[in-house]
Amino acid sequence: MKFNRQLDQFAPYRTFDTEGKILMNKNESPFDIPGEIKEQMIDRWKAIPFNRYPPIESLPLRRKVSEKTGVEEGMIIAGCGSDALISDLMHLFEGEYIVTFTPTFSMYGFYAKRRGLKVVEIPLNDAFDIPETLDEEIIARAHSVFIANPNNPTGKLYDDYKIDKILRTGVPVVLDEAYWEFSGKTSLAKLREFENLIILRTFSKAMGLSGLRIGLGFAGKKLMEKWFALKSPYNLNTLSEIAAIEMLEHPETLERNIAFIIRERQRIYEAFREIATESFTNFLLLQADAFDFLYNNGILVQKFRGRLEKHIRVTVGTEYENDRLIRKLEAFLKA
Ligand code: PMP
Repeated sequence: MKFNRQLDQFAPYRTFDTEGKILMNKNESPFDIPGEIKEQMIDRWKAIPFNRYPPIESLPLRRKVSEKTGVEEGMIIAGCGSDALISDLMHLFEGEYIVTFTPTFSMYGFYAKRRGLKVVEIPLNDAFDIPETLDEEIIARAHSVFIANPNNPTGKLYDDYKIDKILRTGVPVVLDEAYWEFSGKTSLAKLREFENLIILRTFSKAMGLSGLRIGLGFAGKKLMEKWFALKSPYNLNTLSEIAAIEMLEHPETLERNIAFIIRERQRIYEAFREIATESFTNFLLLQADAFDFLYNNGILVQKFRGRLEKHIRVTVGTEYENDRLIRKLEAFLKA
């Protein structure tokens, strides 16, 4: 048996014992779906024949998203988490390498390497911003450029002129808006201007449906035709599709949760101004080597290797969870 040699570059996902811990490590929503909305989802699920495949192109969900965003349904694709869409995108273009601005979301590199593509990592500057001057030759020749905006794990939101400059090279640009609800800013309107722009969104963060794995992609029709041609046909299951539609029908719950998280994010930011990066997401990057201390005090956060070795990323939780985090981290910093 001969294993794919590419596998040497991969290691299984790191996990920690989460028993009894406050979970602030995955940028999930701290709120489960309210009971009455869950009941309505379950009622809709009951009416579905489980022996039948899901709607092949997720048309009911795409119609609902179209209604909400004003983007026509032919420019929308749905998949099993934005992860699955990132993986798809690696198959869509010609080229030998993707470009990322690091530190950023690790899955861009993961799916690129899995597909046999190289990854050119352009370091973000000291303010975790995209550098003013870029080698446009390198960018223009890439398979694609992946930009999380706002970025994970820094929480930073990039200026339009920096993104537009990259778009104008003509390279496919994937703008991952997984956290857009917490920044209030989206580039959806640019789809009309740039046929090389792809926007990704997810139901895993503000929408609170991480466990159901639902992601969305937006792009011009020419690109979408190719994307639909290579997409796994049934990878968004019927139950998840219905849950996503149900969530879109309850904007008041969503807006309340977003407003709470933004308020709490600011509270944590104010408590740790000297060590925090200003964030436009539901998490904060803090310069403190406090992973072990917090873990031993019942709080699981995210830690990193390399440039962010002495940092932690903390997902905004409930008021009680944030109080505990603030108390424990203050104790760590005073010690
Ligand atoms: N993009 C970014 C920037 C993320 O941080 C994450 C989740 N950590 C994802 C995409 C993945 O989202 P999904 O759950 O839809 O696969």
